[in-house]
Amino acid sequence: MTANEIFLKMKEKLSDIVPEAELKYKSELANEINRLKEERNAVILGHNYMEPALYYSVPDFVGDSLELSRKAAQTDRKVIVFCGVRFMAETAKILNPGKTVLLPSEKAGCSLAGSITAEDVRILKDKFPGVPVVSYVNTYADVKAESDYCCTSGNAAAVVNAIGNDKVIFLPDEFLARNVAAETGKKIIFPSVGFTGMRNADQEPGIDYQMIGWRGRCEVHEKFSVEDITNIRKQFPDVVILAHPECSPEVVAASDFSGSTTAMIRYVEQTKSHRYLLLTECAMGDNIAAANPDKEMLRLCSVRCPHMNQITLEDTLEALQKNQYVIEVPEEIRVKAARAVERMIQIG
Ligand code: SF4
Repeated sequence: MTANEIFLKMKEKLSDIVPEAELKYKSELANEINRLKEERNAVILGHNYMEPALYYSVPDFVGDSLELSRKAAQTDRKVIVFCGVRFMAETAKILNPGKTVLLPSEKAGCSLAGSITAEDVRILKDKFPGVPVVSYVNTYADVKAESDYCCTSGNAAAVVNAIGNDKVIFLPDEFLARNVAAETGKKIIFPSVGFTGMRNADQEPGIDYQMIGWRGRCEVHEKFSVEDITNIRKQFPDVVILAHPECSPEVVAASDFSGSTTAMIRYVEQTKSHRYLLLTECAMGDNIAAANPDKEMLRLCSVRCPHMNQITLEDTLEALQKNQYVIEVPEEIRVKAARAVERMIQIG
């Protein structure tokens, strides 16, 4: 495909969202990225939160964490360029130790992944001996290595149910944990930070619980409130509201649908309503709007993920040109983390 063909394809999808001059410039970048991608035998994976011009030009596959983990596990390309954040690129490396995995920006972190350390998990395991640990995929490799299972927002409840244990440690997202507890009918407790004075689980008589959570938050999804929903419904009574499970249980309960980013995309495609509000990263609203021109997406556009937004076409081009930033995971950690990630993929 030439730069002009890429420009025309982008224009068809994004003319209402991105100015034409910007599309022209970005199509040139995308053309060079695609050329280098072939030269370097690379595959580009793009998360649903990527900005529209990137999302609709260079990725070979787009999707949520679970889908992209699957694609990373299946690729026969030598280089994986992950247009997402660090924990996602680490997951690709965990599944593909022999391949080069590149993350286009060093600054693409995550408030949720940064909320817990491997040492925190070891302390929890010490306090709740024998209780299986489920970690959301939005964690760093050393935390995954301390976990028995990983999960995504799409299969979290399925993973908890599949374990079949009477108690589960579920980390690190407080809201996802509370939503999973509600969905699976389990009671959840949150041990105090630092664990000072906390007694072992078997020394807690009279407390009935089946899940042990952690108070990590996604700095994007924690911003949405029930008041936002009330205000939007007043202005647009026919709006259908979709909330990501990283939103608070109160927000999820006040919404019409809750699911992973992929489940939200499918929901919008398959329902006949005219107007939607997505309570998730705003770039995804743009990407869904481009794919469904007959449907209106309302925006709360101050809500952008500063980490996902670090990934640009410029950085992606530089990543291929300079072979940066190479993701490494120490083998001892990788082997342990792979066990938890592979269980997540198997449960699906
Ligand atoms: S949207 Fe939230 S969970 Fe996702 S990368 Fe950004 S801060 Fe992390």
